[in-house]
Amino acid sequence: MSIRSLPNVPSQLQQLVASPSVSATNPKLDMGNRGVIDLLAAWLETLGFAVEIMPLQDQPHKANLIATLGQGDGGLVLAGHTDTVPYDDNRWQSDPFQLQERDNRFYGLGSTDMKGFFPLAIEAAKTFVDKPLQQPLIILATADEETSMAGARALVKAGLPKARYAIVGEPTGLKPIRMHKGMMMERLRITGQAGHSSNPAYGASALEAMHTAMGEVIKFRNEIQQRYQNPGFAVEVPTLNLGCIHGGDNPNRICGHTELQFDLRPLPGMSMDALRGELHQRLKGAMTDEKIQLKMDSLIGGVDAFEEPADSELVKVAEQLTGHSSESVAFATEAPFLQQLGMQTIVLGPGDIDQAHQPDEYLGLERIDPMVETLKGMIGRFCL
Ligand SMILES: [Zn+2]
Repeated sequence: MSIRSLPNVPSQLQQLVASPSVSATNPKLDMGNRGVIDLLAAWLETLGFAVEIMPLQDQPHKANLIATLGQGDGGLVLAGHTDTVPYDDNRWQSDPFQLQERDNRFYGLGSTDMKGFFPLAIEAAKTFVDKPLQQPLIILATADEETSMAGARALVKAGLPKARYAIVGEPTGLKPIRMHKGMMMERLRITGQAGHSSNPAYGASALEAMHTAMGEVIKFRNEIQQRYQNPGFAVEVPTLNLGCIHGGDNPNRICGHTELQFDLRPLPGMSMDALRGELHQRLKGAMTDEKIQLKMDSLIGGVDAFEEPADSELVKVAEQLTGHSSESVAFATEAPFLQQLGMQTIVLGPGDIDQAHQPDEYLGLERIDPMVETLKGMIGRFCL
């Protein structure tokens, strides 16, 4: 079979790409995803899926979609996010919102990460629409994955969808992924007291306190790297990067305020809350001057590390169907949220991560048939 025998794939992907759904922390760039959700809902409804659109509570222009074929307990979720990152217009060779086929590739914003997954999931589902499913097939489309993961968080809160297995179609080059690190972005703010630099007693230097705090953060990092290692990752230890620092204004003023931002990428088995708590405790303990105040908070909600056991049924079946043993990736996904909903979860998709978040993002046409075949195998195994 070739892409030519799947005529709906290019036309559906073209429409999904043409429907802008950028997620950005900058409100000027941030958009809704309802265009993409409405397209998917219409296509899936035509195929006989029961379709539920769930707007996000404080962002009604963004929504999740749960489309269900068949009923009963258990079943399989094919999950993807509908949003993309912002784009750099003048670095694209063609219009990012117009799907272009050239060099055996589909070029377009979101082609690989990850609008391209949906037409393939729909193509695989089509084979099963007139078969009596013993367990439901659910196509799940989420909002806001690229920034806050608000869509996935809302699903966890709602306890939906309910199924036994989930595949997240993020770009993994057709390989099953059963582990990734978590991601936290934290901010440390230190307030001291400004004053004339000629006499240290006139103030309390937030900059010197930050120096102490940074030493403590680095010591903490070294300790957690001693405590936790996982040879399943290219970087075997949890990482902590001091990303940026701001503070002070003039050489002859005692610095009154500094701010440090860092990210921390925990391994599976490390709790984000425990890490925050431990670090905060230590930093507070290191501040000896009572004129110094220290505050730590999170810039984002954070994403837990993810690990599906190597011997779980879903991992085994995915390894069989793809011919690849399961691996880990360096990027975070919605997988831990689906796992929290009680599903065995893997990440497995047609695109390549080195194509994601890039100008001239593309999906190789040769990825389409194998992905559709793998998904058919999965549905056959878990829904029939
Ligand atoms: Zn993605």
